Amino acid sequence: MIEFLALSPVFDTGFKLYRMIEVIKEIEKIRHLVEKKRAEGAKIGLVPTMGAIHEGHVSLIKLACEMTDYVVVSVFVNPTQFGPGEDFKKYPRNPEKDMRTIDSAGAHCIFSPEISEMYPGEYSTYITVEELTKGLCGRSRPEHFRGVTTVVTKLFNIVDPHIAVFGQKDAQQLAVIRKMVDDLNMTVKIVTGSIVRAQDGLALSSRNMYLSGEERKQATVLYRSLCMASEMAASGVTEPEEILGKVREVITGQDAAKIDYIEIVDKDRMTPVTKISDSSLLAVAVWFGKTRLIDNIILNGKNG
Ligand code: AMP
Repeated sequence: MIEFLALSPVFDTGFKLYRMIEVIKEIEKIRHLVEKKRAEGAKIGLVPTMGAIHEGHVSLIKLACEMTDYVVVSVFVNPTQFGPGEDFKKYPRNPEKDMRTIDSAGAHCIFSPEISEMYPGEYSTYITVEELTKGLCGRSRPEHFRGVTTVVTKLFNIVDPHIAVFGQKDAQQLAVIRKMVDDLNMTVKIVTGSIVRAQDGLALSSRNMYLSGEERKQATVLYRSLCMASEMAASGVTEPEEILGKVREVITGQDAAKIDYIEIVDKDRMTPVTKISDSSLLAVAVWFGKTRLIDNIILNGKNG
């Protein structure tokens, strides 16, 4: 069933012309639609999201539109990637606003299944990427990546895209998905979108809306500390601990900040490095009040 149709002007010629985005909830329907597009010769792009769409997501959708002919955006708050006590229930949901933003970004279709469609009653199969998921976010969120790789595999099987776009914002997730695609001989090409930030440097995130005014202000320390680290690396500092010490000092200067982790790792292996190189990633996860924010920067290398 096509649930509702968004009406948004494409261009105004005196009579208004309208474009429609389809919102599909059933696996069989999206499969059928994408198969048809592929048979017509279209290159298919997929942008997986959990909704609460912001300009970061929009940049990924635009990238997918540049690279493919038919772009599916999935909107699914995936319960299996939230741990007990995490924010699954209160995760921001605004399907109507998301639909309008996704439509204006140029996507062709939204796949927004119910939980029961993705995980029916007796569901019992999970995908696990082992080593890469042990550190960083995997340490404080032990079930998280198993949920991510499971739902992403399901989305790949359902949509069978030529490319799928993921954000550098979730650097460990990106490395884990690349590894899974490689290990399991999946044919989809993974494309990375760079981090979109607010004017004051805070990386856009659906979770930023949980922050109080004061926490929001203090959270700008994350990007400031990443930039400082990047300058240190550019000026020739090669000792990870020298950079990490400074970053810790700057972040703990904000009284609302509580560090989960600050690490410099290899951007593909996610293991600590002993010397800074152009594949070193500084990754941080910091609590501001009840909100945990993550951010990262590639030191001495290309971000994005
Ligand atoms: P989410 O809805 O948070 O699961 O994110 C969906 C996709 O958007 C993931 O690939 C994220 O890495 C990406 N993303 C989230 N925030 C940003 C951002 N600020 N800039 C670019 N991409 C982002």
